[in-house]
Order: sequence, then C-alpha cells, then structure tokens
Amino acid sequence: MKTRLTQDATKSPQAPCPDELVIRVIRSNRRRKTVSARLLNWHTLEIRVPAHLSEAQIEQITQEMVARALRKRRTMRNYASDETLEQRATHYNDLYFAGQLRWRSIRFVSNQQRRFGSCSPTRGTIRISDRLRHVPDFVLDYVIIHELAHLLQPDHSPTFWELVYRYPKTERARGYLMAMELEQVREDTHHTTTTNGNINEEDETHAS
Ligand SMILES: [Zn+2]
Repeated sequence: MKTRLTQDATKSPQAPCPDELVIRVIRSNRRRKTVSARLLNWHTLEIRVPAHLSEAQIEQITQEMVARALRKRRTMRNYASDETLEQRATHYNDLYFAGQLRWRSIRFVSNQQRRFGSCSPTRGTIRISDRLRHVPDFVLDYVIIHELAHLLQPDHSPTFWELVYRYPKTERARGYLMAMELEQVREDTHHTTTTNGNINEEDETHAS
C-alpha cells in the first residue's frame, strides 16, 4: 500500500486518497476479553476493545488488526474508482437512455452506510456508497442505472422501474443488495450504535 503523508495541495481535503485507512478505536466497558474489528467501508476500520486494556495493548492490537484489514482489502476484487463510475454511467446513458441524460457529478461517498446510492435530479449529482466499491460489476452497474433513471423519474413509479428493468440483471442485482443489507443488519445487532436517521430529501436506492 502506498501511504501519502504529505499534504497534496492540488487535492480537495474532502476526497480521501484512494488507499487511506482511518482507524476508529472504541473502548467498551461491556467487553471483557473480546476484540472485534470490522471494515465499515473501504476507508474506515472500526476496532472495539475492552476498556480496561492499556495503551500499549491497544496499540499492539491495532497494528495487528490494521495489517489484517489491509490484507483483506487487497483480496477485494474490482476496486472501482470515481472514474469507473463516470465511464460506466456514460456507457449506460448511451445504451439505455439514448445519450440524453446529463449530470454534474457521479462519485463514491463514505457517508452513506444505510443507502446504496442517491440522486439529486435538480443538482445533477449522483452519489454511490463506497460499500459498493468491491461488489460484482453487475451489482454496481445496477445501482448506477437506478440512479441515472432518477434523473428522468425522481420517484419509484412503474415508469421508473420500466426504465431500470431494461438492464437485464436488475432482478439479480436487487437480490444481491437485499442479502447484503440483511448481513449488515445482523452485524449491527452486535453493536449499540444507532442508525442515524437519514435526512433524505433526495432519493435513495432501495434494494427491495
Ligand atoms: Zn431509487
């Protein structure tokens, strides 16, 4: 992994460098012995440790967990970038929308843990959860097409689904996303974190 420690003035501060890993250590009084680590998304590793551990112990655990997380990340295939999103969106615009759609930006964001994608038709912005950086291509493509269709049709009306279902793998991709959501719910039940109520004036991609 390349680590970049120097500030690059040409890059905006919001855009994390592609390989950056932010480590969040949570000390829990309820934990006695167990340590858990979970990659919340491409950029965030959450480590939960019993509160009574010393700084040195936590430091050592953190190093081990980071090494493991980096190994895991390397095995994730299909690491998609914002450029990939732009290219695919352009491709599917031509294929299914006669090239008539216009958007200002399509990019990955790390703050959408409960949604797979969102589209603001008025601003022309599409955001894709970076949990989808390493899903199979057909799943990512479905979410892109779903959000593209919202540029024309902001709701989930039959007209909207007619647009989306031109993509033949829609049904399969929705099944995949539904399973992914269930898995996340199961993982979340082990934690005390509450779902932050999504303020959602924009549309979201539903897996169902
Ligand atoms: Zn939608």
